[in-house]
Amino acid sequence: MAVITNAFEMAQRQFDHVASLLKLDPQVCEMLRWPMREFHFRIPVRMDDGTLRVFDGYRVQHNDARGPNKGGIRFHPAETLDTIRALATWMTWKCAVADIPLGGGKGGVCVDPATLSTSEKERLCRGFIDQLWRNIGPRQDVPAPDVGTTPQMMGWMMDEYSKLVGQYTPGVITGKPLGGGGSLGRTEATGYGVIFAVREAMRHLEMAPDQCVAGFQGFGNVSQYASIGFKEILKGKVACVSYWDREDRTAYTVSHPEGIDPRYLMTITDQYGSIDKKKALANGYIIEDGNAWLSKEVDVLIPAALEGQITGETVQAISKRVRMVAEGANGPTTPEADEVFKSRGIFVIPDFLCNCGGVTVSYFESVQNDMNYYWTKNEVLDRLDTKMTIAFEGVLEMAINEKVNMRDAAYMVAIARVVKAMELRGWL
Ligand code: NAD
Repeated sequence: MAVITNAFEMAQRQFDHVASLLKLDPQVCEMLRWPMREFHFRIPVRMDDGTLRVFDGYRVQHNDARGPNKGGIRFHPAETLDTIRALATWMTWKCAVADIPLGGGKGGVCVDPATLSTSEKERLCRGFIDQLWRNIGPRQDVPAPDVGTTPQMMGWMMDEYSKLVGQYTPGVITGKPLGGGGSLGRTEATGYGVIFAVREAMRHLEMAPDQCVAGFQGFGNVSQYASIGFKEILKGKVACVSYWDREDRTAYTVSHPEGIDPRYLMTITDQYGSIDKKKALANGYIIEDGNAWLSKEVDVLIPAALEGQITGETVQAISKRVRMVAEGANGPTTPEADEVFKSRGIFVIPDFLCNCGGVTVSYFESVQNDMNYYWTKNEVLDRLDTKMTIAFEGVLEMAINEKVNMRDAAYMVAIARVVKAMELRGWL
């Protein structure tokens, strides 16, 4: 099989595989293999030195049969239309598997945001909306932050949109700052969502959560709250986390013989998820190389850093005790490593089911914006728990009934839901 490096070709190949399992009509496949709408526009921005620069902007709306499109906006110098197409396609499947009434979208601007001043960033954000505002909206397409964009940028974009339509419209964008239309619980959402899925998988596998040990890769937003949840919600032990050390430009694993205390480690971690290793060492922690997290004696592995981390090679180091892999990150497992998991009977909670807590609480944010009434953090997290539990059960049932693994089952659930919505709307 040829190695695919283009993300959109990969997304299409994954779709084709599951479409054949579902025996989907080729005409239906033709609709779902490609986005419904794509926008490519040029954004003129006056720079601080008085010159004019023109940036390329994109928005892709893959499929909105189940509701308004949903997905982030990336500011990245190497942004391509195909990357955005792939990410928009994956958003369609993620929203469908989470069973939230939204479709799939993604946007981007070719720019390195680190090269812009704050006021240039603001003008670029407003310019993005000036080009696109007719094609987004709470009932059309709801963007959010992603790589290179921040809650503050979402605040500017929401403000620009509100001015253009002539009314305060916070529901046009999610991921806004708290106090500026954001939702409580969004910070914890993805990590806690991972833990709700792990809890359900343990119930299925008859594992006692309080007897279980987990190892994590990464210590950023997802891993911080997933490790807190593993310790405080499941009462399990967290053997280690790993992180990318920004000073040494290498990865390390941080462990403790009695289990790590994620709340303490957060106090010595910077905004990029890099831990102060001198303070950790002074507090009895052990520092090892970046791959050590993978070979610890644990029951559960939670990769929550980057894509492509568990490969055909690194998977060999995994201990015999491991029974479950919960993919907090997007695409952390290569197809070769996935084969090893299958042959060893390791239960995998696939990425777009495992980390769908983030988009679920983004959906809650737009619901609260529409009502102009805001829930407490506990209300948000309780609703997240219900959604994650139902999503997990739906995929597990499909896996058991169709005798497929959880990854294929998640795709099957998602694609079947989108096809059904298209049928009900008379598109097919
Ligand atoms: P983040 O930037 O907050 O944290 C990333 C962490 O990974 C940091 O601790 C960093 O030090 C660590 N890291 C980087 N390279 C590493 C390496 N080689 N070895 C070990 N650790 C390394 O990112 P995040 O928001 O926690 O996202 C993590 C993953 O989860 C990404 O794949 C992201 O796409 C995915 N995801 C995030 C969300 C969300 O709501 N934040 C939602 C869905 C999916």
